[in-house]
Amino acid sequence: MLPGVTTLREPLQRSLGPKTANKLEEIFGLRTVGDLLRHYPRRYYTRGELTDLSSLREGDHVTVLARVVTVAEIPLPPMPGKGRRSRLEVVVTDDRAKLILTFFSGLQRYRHVLKPHVVGMFAGTVSSFRGRRQLVHPECEMLPGAPPNADLAPELAAEFATEMIPVYPASAKCSSWSIARSVKIVLESLDAGTDPLPAEVREREGLYDRAVAIRAIHRPLDPADRDQAKKRLKWDEAFMLQAALAQRRLAAAALPAMPRPHIADGIADEFDARLPFTLTKGQVEVGETIAGELSCAYPMHRLLQGEVGSGKTVIAIRAMLQVVDAGGQAALLAPTEVLAQQHYRSITDMLGPLARRGQLGAAEHATGVALLTGSVGAAARRAALADVLTGDAGIVIGTHALLEEQVQFADLGLVVIDEQHRFGVEQRDALRAKAADNRPHVLVMTATPIPRTVAMTVYGDLETSTLTELPAGRSAIATHVVPAADKPRYLERAWERVREEVSRGQQAYVVCPRIGDVPGTPDSDDADYPGEDDFGTVLARGDDPPRPPRWDMAGGIPRGVAAGGRRQPLAVLDVAATLDAGQLAGLRLGILHGRLHPEEKDRVMREFSAGQIDVLVATTVIEVGVDVPNATVMVVMDAERFGVSQLHQLRGRVGRGTAPGLCLLVTEAPPAMPGRGGLGGASPGASSARERLDAVAATLDGFKLSRLDLEQRREGDVLGAAQAGRQSSLKLLQLLKDEDLIRQARQDATAVVSADPKLAAHPALREAIDELLGVQAEYLDKT
Ligand code: ADP
Ligand code: MG
Repeated sequence: MLPGVTTLREPLQRSLGPKTANKLEEIFGLRTVGDLLRHYPRRYYTRGELTDLSSLREGDHVTVLARVVTVAEIPLPPMPGKGRRSRLEVVVTDDRAKLILTFFSGLQRYRHVLKPHVVGMFAGTVSSFRGRRQLVHPECEMLPGAPPNADLAPELAAEFATEMIPVYPASAKCSSWSIARSVKIVLESLDAGTDPLPAEVREREGLYDRAVAIRAIHRPLDPADRDQAKKRLKWDEAFMLQAALAQRRLAAAALPAMPRPHIADGIADEFDARLPFTLTKGQVEVGETIAGELSCAYPMHRLLQGEVGSGKTVIAIRAMLQVVDAGGQAALLAPTEVLAQQHYRSITDMLGPLARRGQLGAAEHATGVALLTGSVGAAARRAALADVLTGDAGIVIGTHALLEEQVQFADLGLVVIDEQHRFGVEQRDALRAKAADNRPHVLVMTATPIPRTVAMTVYGDLETSTLTELPAGRSAIATHVVPAADKPRYLERAWERVREEVSRGQQAYVVCPRIGDVPGTPDSDDADYPGEDDFGTVLARGDDPPRPPRWDMAGGIPRGVAAGGRRQPLAVLDVAATLDAGQLAGLRLGILHGRLHPEEKDRVMREFSAGQIDVLVATTVIEVGVDVPNATVMVVMDAERFGVSQLHQLRGRVGRGTAPGLCLLVTEAPPAMPGRGGLGGASPGASSARERLDAVAATLDGFKLSRLDLEQRREGDVLGAAQAGRQSSLKLLQLLKDEDLIRQARQDATAVVSADPKLAAHPALREAIDELLGVQAEYLDKT
């Protein structure tokens, strides 16, 4: 390393000193120069363009650009022994709205700088005082051209000689301009090294050199300069990620796997002969693709996407049986206990005597089916483990318990992962590692359909198949929003509908966001849900729309008004008790949630499947995969608490049989206001709760809804499970908006990697992949 030259990989400490470096790491997780330079401005102020002060929300930490209007020193009420005191009240404006800056100390210093007409940046947390919004003791930075500002920011005047002022993601402990200062320091001596992006790509796309782009994104001359910089840096993100994924695909395909070809007249054929329905065209096609791949001498890595109810499980079972016929074992990993048990039950039912190896009445070439979940008792578990080890169990079904070390297979040939969005890449690999040669075939199934570019990125190492049609004879699901606050009568009607369905011999679900209070236990289903923040989970608390302070839902649901005036989300235990005593009195109600004892869960599900329970009041444990065709109505309470994709998943539980399904989304969220927010709105999350619910009611197209869901998430969240690194490697790339770029980058990156798998001729590219992907690259290398 040359003295006086800064490289992207070196720690920040060297250029900035320990104090600043530690602060940046502590607050933002920035360790290297590259990390800091990828802490991109959140936006840019153009000189002369002031912040829209009317948009400020109480409690937000903000950095605003505004003009000083008046400065007044206001005496404070006298306090014994304190002498004469006053506060400084500075009114600033964006030429429309006003904001107050209040200072209680250093008055002289601030008076000196904050003079009428000067423009400055002010950072602080918005609070309210007597109905007016204010910042108390904001940090101040006056802009060049303003009168004397020697005290506060001597060097800033020269720094932003350009028109565009970067505003960085900042916090109360580290202001936007202290980040700007650090960026300035590292930029001064930066040697960005050899450009990692192949020259052909740069030329064809007309992209900036990397060094130019890095400077321009932090110090753009004008908006066009910034856009060019952004485009180039997006290319880096897309290209490096796709190159890493291409390497991974290539490495996987190069390693041998045991071929598991279809064997005629085995269990698989017999299973097909016994199927009570005809496979759809899509099922047949995907089945053929999978059968072909399982016969190859390198491992299959396939993602199977399909609408809720499109019949993915049958495809998985057929693949598993092909492997069993060929002498191997197949493991099915399910995200929840309920689902693992359901799979176990339905597979043993469907296989009948074919699944009773070693038992009386077994078919000649029968196999065994083992169930391994956290709740399986010690003796049963020992027996199951033994069957898995000897190979007597050809099919092994389980939850996370499958990943434990004691679980050893005789010959694991196929890993099936159901409802992938609950699992991360690590779990997929932990299970894969249980095969002797470490190369089993892998089939991943997800019912949360994702757009192609997202699949390319999140599951970039998998080939994708999609089931688009539903089996014939499925009835449509009608979805309605029930505005409980403004139309209490509608909620009454919802319960009447439930009663009607039950009187016709059908069944119903009532879904609530919370379990309810049992002292000393957590109030959610976390235990069941490892990947809490992946697709379609309950929205974070912070996203909650403001709710009416009081709640008095007709229909006799208890109103739980929390201390702060906000009601707690409705809970399974409360709602079940209330319905049992009121609206649904006389019906057979059951309760299901993640905190029940696993045996109890299994019992409830069995009773519900057998029609011994009319109405199941549950949390989202029923979200994935639960299959009871006789259930026709679902009432979702506090529906705005759930994500769009999650609601779509939930309603997929009804309308699975021949009777039409009905899904009622009960909410107290106020109706959408025309002109405000909007689903196409500029800021993510801007859409109102009601608009999201209306969108779910308006379409049954899971792809459309998942797009909508994605539009409201940050890219890093989308990648959640796929990202092992400490930071998201995607800062600028938007999976939906940059589809064309991602597609092109994937094509280019794949070409480069295919021609030179180890990137021997592209050292800078190799280094950039490591650098950009951080820990993830280590992980990718390892496989
Ligand atoms: P998902 O894709 O949501 O996992 P499942 O595999 O659970 O869907 O299938 C839903 C239901 O449809 C199951 O009861 C299954 O037996 C049934 N099913 C699957 N394929 C067909 C088909 N081709 N025709 C009729 N019913 C089918
Ligand atoms: Mg399923």
